[in-house]
Formats: sequence, structure tokens, C-alpha cells
Amino acid sequence: MKFGELTYNDYTERIKAFHGTVAPGILLGGFMVNLAQEKLPEGGFFDVICETKTCLPDAIQLLTPCSIGNGWLRVLDLGRFAAVFYDKYTGLGLRIFLDRSKLEEWEEVKTWFLKLKPKNLQDSELLFAQIKEAGTSLFAIEPAKVHKNYLKKKKMGKTVICPICNETYPEAHGSICRGCAEELPYDLIQSNEDLENKKILLLNKTSVEESVGMHLLHDVTRIIYKKEKGVAFKKGHVISEENIQMLRELGKNNVFVEEHNPFVKGYKHENEVALDFAQHMSGQGICFNKIPKEGRINLLAEIDGIFVSDEEQLERFNISSGVICASLPNYNCVKKGDIVGATRAIPLYISNEDYLKAMNCLEKETLFTVHPLRKAKVGILVTGTEVYENLIEDRYTEIIQSKVEAYGCEVVSKEMVPDDIDAISSKIHDMIHSGADMIITTAGLSVDPDDMTLEAIIKAGAEDLLYGIPVLPGSMLVCAEIEDVQIIGVPGCGIYNDRFSFDLLLPRLLANIKITSRDLARMGNGGLFYN
Ligand SMILES: [Zn+2]
Repeated sequence: MKFGELTYNDYTERIKAFHGTVAPGILLGGFMVNLAQEKLPEGGFFDVICETKTCLPDAIQLLTPCSIGNGWLRVLDLGRFAAVFYDKYTGLGLRIFLDRSKLEEWEEVKTWFLKLKPKNLQDSELLFAQIKEAGTSLFAIEPAKVHKNYLKKKKMGKTVICPICNETYPEAHGSICRGCAEELPYDLIQSNEDLENKKILLLNKTSVEESVGMHLLHDVTRIIYKKEKGVAFKKGHVISEENIQMLRELGKNNVFVEEHNPFVKGYKHENEVALDFAQHMSGQGICFNKIPKEGRINLLAEIDGIFVSDEEQLERFNISSGVICASLPNYNCVKKGDIVGATRAIPLYISNEDYLKAMNCLEKETLFTVHPLRKAKVGILVTGTEVYENLIEDRYTEIIQSKVEAYGCEVVSKEMVPDDIDAISSKIHDMIHSGADMIITTAGLSVDPDDMTLEAIIKAGAEDLLYGIPVLPGSMLVCAEIEDVQIIGVPGCGIYNDRFSFDLLLPRLLANIKITSRDLARMGNGGLFYN
């Protein structure tokens, strides 16, 4: 019995030195590696994806050149005693896994593997004897091909110094290192002196009488019940004798003035950081007022359109300490000049560290955008034999027409067809030829046997088809494209319900925002309408 070049005894010695004890899982892993080496073509260069983080990775590291450190072994915590051995260039290889049905022949191996008895009641001598005897017969093999994106080795890239911790890290990770950007599983035990230095900046206050002739360090707000909220004195204002009375009326007996708070190293003023944040948050169609008011900067729509926010990026920014950004809900329609969001720091002075962490969350520069809505040329295709044969009156055309015209779209074609796959799909093509760039079919999308619209849309050559949307009413909606023409199949419920899934989706389609299954999945939150 050999494990690569090693005898059984050599192998168990190596295991002891590397893993601490001779665990059954590593011994078993040795047989898996044996099987892989026997079955894989000779002379290839193989990498391994191991599907458990327990024991098996150590067998692979002991018996093959593949290790975690050299990147040729990757460990996924899938909890399966299995590994894929594959050609590092082509991705072709074998997946070897412990075959549960084979365990039936080996009682003690089964007891151990399935944890059928507490460890102290297991017979380890018998277990090892059975593993040795069963050997490679415990495994099954299936061919596998590793995805292309997994084959590419990521280049290390440039190394830079983190401005917070002063340690080096790959530049591709962002403007600060991941150790500073993310929560760590440990705290450093700091001396009291270090802690003192990290406390929130305490500013020196000055009584309003003593502050005459000095410069205010911050905007002073005046709030009058239900009437007024605004800046009474701006940052930098020189306080005069006459101001004292008003400051007192505003409840200020003390103020922060520049003269008594010389610039503190390592801190930034709220106005300065709010401007930086706004600059990095503004994508296409967004502008912002350049002068902060009470520490806050408003972000505005530069054009009419639909407001789009990167919700994950916004969440990361708001998790960051000492800063906030509030915005309109995603995909709201806005007019030029509307405030779509606002940002500010919470304290008057924010530590440089918090500032850098917040800025690191805004790397993509596309937190907020406003996309213009196009004026689509719409074809409305009413499906349903009952409408086609005039058994009932069509009401859907006028409903859809008024919804699209509300966005300035033009209806260029209106047609009616029976529930017939060929009739529907050929009408879709007629509408494309007549210049429609958005075709809306109505009804015929439920599970009834007469409903043919979905099949007809597919037959017409629809690509990127999405069927089913987590919005009620209107979940059986279809969204697809034929060349550059958008095809939307709306379910029958729009006849009855004033608002349904189509109303949520329409502005996004008019903005030519590519809709993925993930985008649809997210619509579930807030996707319930009470009509
Ligand atoms: Zn760092």
C-alpha cells in the first residue's frame, strides 16, 4: 500500500507531523488522492477544488503539489467529502466523492462517517483496518469541467500603503486595506494612552459674550415652530454685540469659534467631507449644491428621468461610522431640480479614519444616477379569442394606451389576435416592421390551457426572457427582447387593478435599464399593492 512515494507508515508519520493526529479523514483522503492519480492522464498540470474544509485538504496538501498557499488548491466549505481534480488550463477533470452506498459494506466506516455513535464508543482500530481494506473502493468518480472564470489566476497587481494602518495591501482592494474597511474578528489591546487619542474630538466651547469678534465654527440653525427652519448665522460669521440677544433666543449660551479651536490634526470639518461625499456620489444626471447648508449637501436631478441608486453601496456608506446619506427610493421618477438625496457627517468634525472609511465605500462613483426616459413607439397587441370574436368588448387597449401616454410615448399600432401561437407571434413581427420599439401584449399568460401568449412570445424569437415577477397583482408578467425591441406580456389583472406590476416596470424599460432576474427578485420588497 503506497501513497504517492510514501509507504503507509511514512504517510501516517507525515500526517502526525502536519495535522497533529492521524485522523481517519486524512487517511481516507489519501486513498482519494491515489484514485485521482491513477485516473488522471499523466503529464498534466492539475489543480484541486476541495469541497470540505475538514481533513481532506490536508491529505491533498501532503500528497500533491497543490496547497492553499500556492493557490493550486481551493477549499469550498460545501460540507461534502469530495474534490474536483482538474487540468488547470482546460478545466477538464474528475470529481471524486465518497459514495454513501459503498459505506453499507463497511459498518465501522459508516458509523464514523455518519456519526452514528459517540466517538468514545467507536472502535478506532477496526475503523482504520476497514478504511485500509476498503481503500479506493469507497469512492465514486464523475467527469467535471471547472468554470472558466475559476481557471484564471488573479494577478497580484500593485502594492500600496494603507493610509489608516500604514500596512501594505493590493491596490485593487480599494483606497484603504480590507483589514481597515471590514470588521475584524479581533481587537487590538491598546494602552490607555492610545485610547485617549482615539476619543471623539472634544471642541472648546466659548460663552456667547466672550465670542464677540470671533468666527463661528459651524452654521447656527433657527427653527420656528411650523414656520421656519434655516441658517441664522453661517460658519465663519463674525459674532457681534448685536448677535448676542438672538443667539440667546435660539438657546445658545455657548458656541464653537475658530479662534478657540485651532485646526486639529487628524480631523475634517463637516462641510469639507460632505462636499467630497457628494462629488463621489454623483453619477450621470446628478448635480449638487456646492455650498453646504448646516453641514448638508443636497444632490439634485439634472434632468427629468428615473432615479437609480446602488442600494448595496448606499448601505455600506451608511454603515460607515459618523456619516449618513438619505435618498429617494430607488427607481422613483424625478423632475429636473428635484432633490434625490442628501449627505452629511454626523459630528462637526469627523476623524480622518472615519472619513477614509466612508470614502472607500464610494469607489464606484455611480451611487446615484438619473436616466432619461425615452418616448417609446408602442404597439399594443390584445390577445384572447373572446375579444377577437367580439364576445366581450376590449378594454385593455385604452388602459395600456393611457399608461404609456402618461410618459409621452406614442401608440403606433393596435391589434387584436385570438389565442393562437402563430397569429400572436406573426403580429409581433408585423409590429416590429411597422416601427414599434416596445410591444405590449395583454393577457393569455396564466396557467389556463387556452393561454398561448408566453409560447407565442418565445416563438417570435424572444431573448433574455423573464417570466414571473414578485409583484402582486400582476406576477405573471413577461419581459423579453427581440433584437432591440422590448416585449412585455402583461397579465389580465390590469383590467381590474388600477396599479399592477407593469406600472413598476414601465419607467425602467423606458430608461433602457437592463432588467435581470436579480432586479426582478428585489422588487418583492415593496411589491405588494393594495388596490
Ligand atoms: Zn489598513
